[in-house]
Amino acid sequence: MAAADEKIKIALYWGAGCGGCDVAVLDIDAAILDLAAIADVTLWPIGFDTKYEDIEKMPDKSIMISFYNGAIRNEENEHIARLLRQKSQVMISFGSCACFGGTPGLGNVTNKKEILDLVYKGLPSNDNPEGIIPLPKVKVPEGELTLPDLYDDVMTLEDVVDVDLFMPGCPPTVELISVAINAVANHVKNGTPLPPKGAVIASDKTLCDECPKERVEKGRNIEKIYQSYEIMPDQNKCLIDQGIICMGPATRAGCGAMCPNANMPCRGCMGPTKAVLDQGGSMLSALASVFNIRDDESQIDEIEIEKLLDQIKDPLGTFYAFTLPKSLLRRTFTEKKKAKE
Ligand code: SF4
Ligand code: SF4
Ligand code: SF4
Repeated sequence: MAAADEKIKIALYWGAGCGGCDVAVLDIDAAILDLAAIADVTLWPIGFDTKYEDIEKMPDKSIMISFYNGAIRNEENEHIARLLRQKSQVMISFGSCACFGGTPGLGNVTNKKEILDLVYKGLPSNDNPEGIIPLPKVKVPEGELTLPDLYDDVMTLEDVVDVDLFMPGCPPTVELISVAINAVANHVKNGTPLPPKGAVIASDKTLCDECPKERVEKGRNIEKIYQSYEIMPDQNKCLIDQGIICMGPATRAGCGAMCPNANMPCRGCMGPTKAVLDQGGSMLSALASVFNIRDDESQIDEIEIEKLLDQIKDPLGTFYAFTLPKSLLRRTFTEKKKAKE
């Protein structure tokens, strides 16, 4: 707890992400003034140009809280994660990319070389006749230019540093961010303890628990999977009961069922609940339990599972859109190569 007239220091950083998590912080509107009243921002690359050397010179643990969004994709992401961990009392994994790898985590279906080859040599929109690919170090007459080296593997923040609190979402909702800011403000002003280490700032229930759509309770059975653009689903009925894959059963609540309320399926951005080890596997099993099951059957056979999977156009992107690096699969590229050897 800081002295009454002393502001705490906080830091916000973006690793491999889209910038949406930083915009979400700006979306809290007037609540940002509550934050400004208690905190000085020492690092926020989207907002101002702090030099990393300035952070390196700060005493260890002199930043009270760091909010790290984005996955760990390159050397710079990892360096700043380690630096902020060293300088901060509390490290918050902010957003799905930091918590589970997020959409950048789908890069784990390939590797650095394939990505660079495609982006710099393989896209018809590129004008790069010599096929030049950026290198981590290049000598020029003026000296050496450096770029952070890209990793083969996309990692979560927790894969490289100890994390105190997790706030999932792509991006986290304004409500969840406000919960976190209030917790920090109460801690600073009144000494109220912060949530315990490892806590997830969201609900422990599944998204289906907060979704208002009506579910078939007994004898659920779907025979065909539809893409969400193929049918106009009934607004009041569960999307799975209408044949649209909605990740609700395998996803943590906390967003207010934003997508199902807009009649769109949940893609799973809040990640799994703590009862679930692997969000994609859990969803597949939930789906298998309602696919082509007759009343006298208790489980689906292998042929039916294959029929189910055949109808899903992009199983990995459907079941692991946000969580591949945190899943039991973790990555698929190595296995693919080994299979060819
Ligand atoms: S969690 Fe979503 S909004 Fe945040 S950086 Fe990742 S992709 Fe962007
Ligand atoms: S599966 Fe989706 S639509 Fe159905 S109840 Fe759960 S969150 Fe709602
Ligand atoms: S409904 Fe699903 S995908 Fe949509 S915001 Fe909520 S958790 Fe994320």
